[in-house]
Order: sequence, then C-alpha cells, then structure tokens
Amino acid sequence: MKKIWKKLALIAGCVMMMSMFAACGGGKDENTIVFGTNAEFPPFEFVAANGVIGEYDGIDMAIAKNIGDALGKNVKIENMEFDSLLLALENGQVDAVIAGMTIDPERADAVNFSTPYYTAKQVMIVKEDSTIAKAADMADKKIVVIQGYTGESCVKEMKYEYEAFKKGSEAIMELVNGKCDVVVIDSATAKKYVGDNEGLKIVEDAEAFSSEEYGIAVNKKNTELTIRERMAGMWFWRAMSIFTTSAMICAPRLSASLNTKEEAAARLRFSLIAPPPLPFLFCHSTSAKSLLSVKEMV
Ligand code: GLN
Repeated sequence: MKKIWKKLALIAGCVMMMSMFAACGGGKDENTIVFGTNAEFPPFEFVAANGVIGEYDGIDMAIAKNIGDALGKNVKIENMEFDSLLLALENGQVDAVIAGMTIDPERADAVNFSTPYYTAKQVMIVKEDSTIAKAADMADKKIVVIQGYTGESCVKEMKYEYEAFKKGSEAIMELVNGKCDVVVIDSATAKKYVGDNEGLKIVEDAEAFSSEEYGIAVNKKNTELTIRERMAGMWFWRAMSIFTTSAMICAPRLSASLNTKEEAAARLRFSLIAPPPLPFLFCHSTSAKSLLSVKEMV
C-alpha cells in the first residue's frame, strides 16, 4: 500500500514539474512560432473575419504564415500594443515581432532584424482643402501621431508639439472630425486610411522624411531564428545562399515579391536560418496563395 502512495506522490511530483516547465516556457510548444504584432496597421496587419492566421489578416500575417510553413511550424499571433512588442520579444513572450516595424538604430541595439522587406516613408494625411504642402507647414498646426511609431520620433525631432494616440484609426477619426489638422503616419497605411475615408489626402515631403525599411525582429539571444545578414556580413551570406540554394533540395529558397499596382511593391526577402549544425533554412516569403489575398490590399 505504501508503495502505491509513493508511486502516486512521484507521479504527482512529475506532473507538477512538467506543468512548471510548461509555465516557464509561457505554455509555448516547440512546434509553434509566436509572432507579436499590433493588428492596427492596415494593410500589414488588421483584424478580419477570415484572416490569413485566424482573425488576423494582412501582408505581415501572410509573411508570418509562410515563414511557419517554410520551417514546418505552426504560427500563433499575439496581438498587443505597438509599444509593448519589443519588450515582449525581450522577455520571451513572443519569438518574433512582425508589425511593419521600421529598422532603426535604437531598436537594432535591443533586437535583431531580418533583411528589410518593405520600404516606406512618413507622410502627412490632411483634409482635402488643407494648405499644408510640406512638413514645415505643420509648425502652427495641430499634429497627431501614433504613440511609439517612427512618425512620432520624426515630429519630435522637428520639435513640433503633437498629440499621440494609441491607434491609427483613432488618429484618423480625430482628423475626419476636424479636431486636428494633420496625422503623420507610414505611407502604405496612410494610403489605406485615405482610401477608406472621404475628404482626406496625402501630402509627401521627401526632404523632411527619409525612407524607412521594415524588418522582422527576433531576440538577440534567439539562436533558432537568427538573421543571417547580421551574423556575418551580408555579401558573404548572399553568396552562400546561392550556393546552398542550388545544393539543397529539401530546403529550397523560395522567393517572391509583392508586385502591386504602384510603388508600394513589397519585396519580401527573408533569410532565417537554423543554428549550426542544422542546415540553412531559407524561407523567402511568400507563396502565390497568400499573395492572392494580400495583393489587393496595398
Ligand atoms: N513603421 C512604424 C514604426 O516602426 C509603424 C509601425 C506600426 O505601427 N506597426 O514605428
């Protein structure tokens, strides 16, 4: 009888320890890549009834799905505030961040970025009858930005006063309702908002706003999802990729680009690798199937 109790206690102990490990890993399983995003950034990520990944849709979601497919893993989306994304990455809550995130030196200090996959710029959204024609015209105007976006840093650098909103959609409502004069935001998202709301237009100022590039962020300590270019010189790895592509049949390099109507063509070049001694896994998004759903969005 005693033996049975001992056995039961042992089993109970094991079960407890296993659940503790599961809790430590945030309940993550090894076959799932958890992507953090902020689904408030159309056409890159937004909530939709039948999204590419559950309720999440958009270009980034298609990319995430394709990365998962290429690596033979499930993909899970953690939707959170844009400001919290890099923190979530650093504390292991998510494996990667895909959120139309601009690669900037400060962020690149904290996390590793993939090869850039989209070139954007900040633009100004104004009412159709606005007199704002260049960034300097914002000087005496009521400016709205979105908290933590690069648009906020740009306006801050210009030393203009502004109000920061948590969501792009809230900022646009402020403009539509005449409570502000201008919203500074990324170009493709601006295009989407202007298309969806009457009476708005986009004003560009290439001199005031330099171009930005989006990248997928991973934790610097994450050896499983590491960006090859940052590991050892871009050109070396480019040359290596050509070699390994032809050499490896089981991990082919899939490359595709989003050819959209206009300049908003998203070039998707991802090169995530598995750590040595595992073979290189090149997953160049994105498949024709997902492209179909994102093509019309840009
Ligand atoms: N590209 C901008 C940034 O990185 C905005 C990104 C976003 O809102 N998802 O700050």
